Amino acid sequence: APIVAIVGRPNVGKSTIFNRMAGERIAIVEDQPGVTRDRLYAPAEWLNYEFRMIDTGGIELGDEPFLSEIRAQVELAIDEADVIVMVASGREGLTSADEVVAKMLYRTKKPVVLAINKVDNPEMRQDVYDFYALGLGDPFPVSGSHGLGLGDLLDEVVKHFPDEAAEQEDDGVTRFSIIGRPNVGKSSIVNAMLGEERVIVSDIEGTTRDAIDTRFVTPEGDEFIMVDTAGMRKRGKVYENTEKYSVMRALKAIDNSSVILMVIDAEAGIREQDKHVAGFAHDAGRAMIIVVNKWDAIEKDDHTMKEFEEMIRVEFKFLDYAPVVFVSAKTGQRLERLPQLVKDVDSNHRKRISSSVLNDVIMDAIAVNPTPSDNGRRLRVYYATQVATQPPTFVIFVNDVELMHFSYERFLENKIREAFDFTGTPVKLIVRARK
Ligand code: GDP
Repeated sequence: APIVAIVGRPNVGKSTIFNRMAGERIAIVEDQPGVTRDRLYAPAEWLNYEFRMIDTGGIELGDEPFLSEIRAQVELAIDEADVIVMVASGREGLTSADEVVAKMLYRTKKPVVLAINKVDNPEMRQDVYDFYALGLGDPFPVSGSHGLGLGDLLDEVVKHFPDEAAEQEDDGVTRFSIIGRPNVGKSSIVNAMLGEERVIVSDIEGTTRDAIDTRFVTPEGDEFIMVDTAGMRKRGKVYENTEKYSVMRALKAIDNSSVILMVIDAEAGIREQDKHVAGFAHDAGRAMIIVVNKWDAIEKDDHTMKEFEEMIRVEFKFLDYAPVVFVSAKTGQRLERLPQLVKDVDSNHRKRISSSVLNDVIMDAIAVNPTPSDNGRRLRVYYATQVATQPPTFVIFVNDVELMHFSYERFLENKIREAFDFTGTPVKLIVRARK
């Protein structure tokens, strides 16, 4: 999906406009219990366009002065967005800080749409003409707090979206990405995987202008595309080591790959951000592998690995299907397993089960553990069939949807997982009534 970033000096109302544009679907980030209410990345739609909004504000740079904060914000937008919305304020009028922001935007070839916020009534519309001086084209008067003018603004924004032709086709090659918080060792793992002697590596341009994907072929002849390695290989921008940026990059990588390697630092443990990102990957139906890195740095006995895995299972309850691998990018321990594991998980994610075999499994399960009943009415399961892959999705036809309890659904999913190898992939069950 195209990415829209909002930039501007402080207090012009960026967050208000962000919330308005993202509408109620902003909930993705807030949905997860215990997660910070950070609106950094939200799905949005306008007309028949779907896009994602990033809020580049609030990048924590410690005590960096104001100007570097704005610069980081604008650089991030220029690097990551397809369309940039610059916000200024009609109430305060044109300020020198606005000019600074505009100047930073001159060097991008990406489309910039200028929104003048706080134009709460029609008389104020006169004032927006001053903003032509910024040299960013027509200013669009809006009122974030009253919801005025946003339609015209969005019409202009979607005009600049890249053609859908850039969509990737399914070529059977495994697309995966390596995500995780700053300093967990992503770059080290990437370099170790690609630096392996007999691996053949070539860069390919990603779907968005700034992404670089890396294609590599293992000695066994397996082909992979590692998505968006740019952020890990050419570094140095001031915002790149912030938590917020790493989350954003991760969510974007999840959008563009089918298998996710989620790296956790064995020393630092699991944080809220990790759960937030993992939840997003799970909801998106991606296959997932949990990679615990820096295993060399941990003092261990023969229980350590098991205890660590148990902790992971508790923290990421919903990811019980994801295999856990303990590696060290420093010593190379177990890294050689990763390509094969990615391949296996990818193939499970694409797996298709014939209806006859599937129904045998379901009927056997029902024979072992009879269906629940309520008020003398018993759930009857007629038939199941797989309707999709990536992730494998099954429809189960029953007499009455209300009679299917969550725990019984869980039981059926477990039986399906016992019968077929779905390691690493979520499995979706859809219950439908049939007369
Ligand atoms: P990224 O920000 O996730 O890409 O992390 P880096 O790959 O830059 O690594 C962050 C730091 O952790 C560096 O100082 C690495 O040398 C160190 N590091 C990475 N992997 C390992 C590991 O397996 N063991 C140990 N002890 N240190 C590691």
